[in-house]
Amino acid sequence: MDRTNEVLAPAGRVRATWWGWLVWLPGCVALGLLFAWTSVEVSTRFSPLLVFPLMVGLVLGASLVSLARICQVGHRATVWTALLLSVAAVVIGQHWFSYRAARVMAEQDLLQYQKAQQAFGELVAGRLPAAPSSMREYLTRQADHGRRLETTFGSWTARGPAAWLSWVLDGLLILLPAAVMTWMALRRPFCGQCRSWYATRRSGPVDAETARRLIDVLEWPAENAAGVTHFRLISCNGGCGTTGLALSCKGRAAANLPAVTWLDDQRRSQVVAVLDGATAAHEP
Ligand SMILES: [Zn+2]
Repeated sequence: MDRTNEVLAPAGRVRATWWGWLVWLPGCVALGLLFAWTSVEVSTRFSPLLVFPLMVGLVLGASLVSLARICQVGHRATVWTALLLSVAAVVIGQHWFSYRAARVMAEQDLLQYQKAQQAFGELVAGRLPAAPSSMREYLTRQADHGRRLETTFGSWTARGPAAWLSWVLDGLLILLPAAVMTWMALRRPFCGQCRSWYATRRSGPVDAETARRLIDVLEWPAENAAGVTHFRLISCNGGCGTTGLALSCKGRAAANLPAVTWLDDQRRSQVVAVLDGATAAHEP
C-alpha cells in the first residue's frame, strides 16, 4: 500500500494542569479509599482467592479511565500517578478499614467483659487480648495468626512472611488489570490544544460506491474498497487537531487497511464531501 502521503497521528505536547494534579488526582485517591471500604465490606461475604483482587483492579481501572475521559485529563504522568496512588489507597485502605473494624470489635468485647465483671465479680475469669494499638501491630498479629487461603486444590494457612507475601500478591493483582486498562486508554490521542480526548464524531455504514470513492480520495489501490462496510471519523472536541478515518468491515478492522488513517485538511474536506454526498443520495 502506498503510504507516502501518510499524515502522522496527533502527538502534540500535553501540559500538566493544576486542576489535574490538585483536584482530579486527589479525587482518584478518594475513589481508591471508597473502593477499599467497599471491598472490605464485600469480602466478608464473597472473596474468592486471586479472582477478588483482579475484579477490584478491573473495576478500579475502568473507573479511573472513565474519570480521565469525562474530566478530559490527558497528561500521561498525572494519569499514571493517579493510578499508582489510588491502587496504594485501595491496598493500604483495605488493611486500615480491617484494623478499625478489629479495634471496634475489641472495644465492644472489653465493654461486655467489664459489665460481666461488675455483675458477677470473681466468677468472671480470664483475660481479654488487648485491642491492637496500631495498624502495624494489627498486621503483625494477623500475620502471626495466619491467613486462611481456600482454593479448589485444598486450603492452607499462610503464616508470618507467607501472609505478608499473600498481601503483596493481592496488591499486585489489583494493580495489574488497572495498569493494563490505563495503558490501553492512554494509547488514544489527546489534543493538547483544546484539552480533549479524541472520540468518534461521526460514524455509519457505507455502500460499495461510497467505499470506492473514499479509497479513491486516500489514493489507495481500488481493491482495498472491497469489504469496507462502515466508517468512523475521530477528532478532538475543538476539531483543531488532525482528523482520523477508520474504515471497518462488519465491526472489524478491514483487511489490509490501517485501523485509523490520519487526514490532512484537504483530505478531510474531500472525505467529508464524499460522506455528505452519500448521505444526501439516501435521503428522500
Ligand atoms: Zn483539539
